Amino acid sequence: MSGYRGRFAPTPSGPLHFGSLVAALASFLDARRAGGEWRLRLEDIDPPRCPPGAADTILRQLEAFGLHWDGPVSWQHERDDAYAAALERLKAAGLAYPCSCSRKQWRDYPVYPGWCRHGVCDPAKPMAWRLRSDLGPRPVVWPDRLFGEQRFDPAELGDVVLKRKDGLWAYQLAVVVDDADQGISDVVRGVDLLDNTPWQRQLQQALGYPEPRYLHLPLILGDDGQKLSKQNLAPPLPEVDDAVRPLLHAALAALDQAPPRELSTAPVAEQLQWGIRHWDVARLRAAPHRQTDATIP
Ligand code: GLU
Repeated sequence: MSGYRGRFAPTPSGPLHFGSLVAALASFLDARRAGGEWRLRLEDIDPPRCPPGAADTILRQLEAFGLHWDGPVSWQHERDDAYAAALERLKAAGLAYPCSCSRKQWRDYPVYPGWCRHGVCDPAKPMAWRLRSDLGPRPVVWPDRLFGEQRFDPAELGDVVLKRKDGLWAYQLAVVVDDADQGISDVVRGVDLLDNTPWQRQLQQALGYPEPRYLHLPLILGDDGQKLSKQNLAPPLPEVDDAVRPLLHAALAALDQAPPRELSTAPVAEQLQWGIRHWDVARLRAAPHRQTDATIP
C-alpha cells in the first residue's frame, strides 16, 4: 500500500461540467499514479441546494468517464453525529462559541470581528457556531503543490462558521471531519477552493487531525473567459461514449499533460491508462486555462 488516499467530493447541486471533470480526473490520476486509493464523497450537506436525481447523474457521469472509485460512496447527509462530536470537542476546548450576530450588523468590517467571543450578544436570537481564530496558529501556512507556499493571517480569515443559524453544518467543518475520518492523505481540487483551505487548516489543527497535502488546480474558463460553473450554466458532461472520448482527451490537455492527438478517439480505459502512466504534476501551469470550442460537447 502506498499510503496515498485521495478523493473527489462534488456537491450534488447539479450535473458535473467540464471544470468538475478536470478536478475529478486530476485527483484520480494523482491517486492512481501513486498506487493509492481514490474515494468518492457526495457533499449533500445543504439539502435545499441538492435537487433530487443530481447525485445519481454524477455517479453515472463518473462511470461514463471510467473514473471508478474505491470503496463505498460516502454521503455527508449521513454524517451528522460525526460533525456534532467534532463541534463538541471544539466547544470543550474553548475553541468554538455561539454567535447571534447577523451579517448586516458587521457589514462595515471585512470579516466578523468576534463580538460574541466572550458571551453571546443577543441570546434571544438564533445562533451560529464559530471557531476562535485568535487562539490558533498564526500565520496559517502550508505548501501547495502547484501554487507554492500559502500564508494567511488569522485576523484576515475571521472566525469561520462551523454550524449555521439554520442548523445546517457548514462546509468547512464537514469537509475537515470527513477528510480526517476517511484518512485522506491528498486533496486535489480546483483553485476556487484555495481560499477555503486556510480555514480547513485551522480546523485540522484545532481538532488535532493530520494535515493532508494540497494540490489546487488551475482555473478552467469557458471560451467566453467566464468561470465554468453550474451558475454560469456550463454544459453538463455527456454520458454516451462517443461524446465522452474527446472530452476526456480535452481534460487531459487542460491538465497540461499533452496527450497525443490520436488518443482522443481511444476508449476511455485506454486514455486513462495513458493518463496514469504519464501523469506529471510538474507539467501543470498555474495560470487560468481556457476551454476551447472543440472541448464543448
Ligand atoms: N464540494 C465541493 C465542491 O463541489 C468540493 C469540496 C472539496 O473538494 O474539498 O465545490
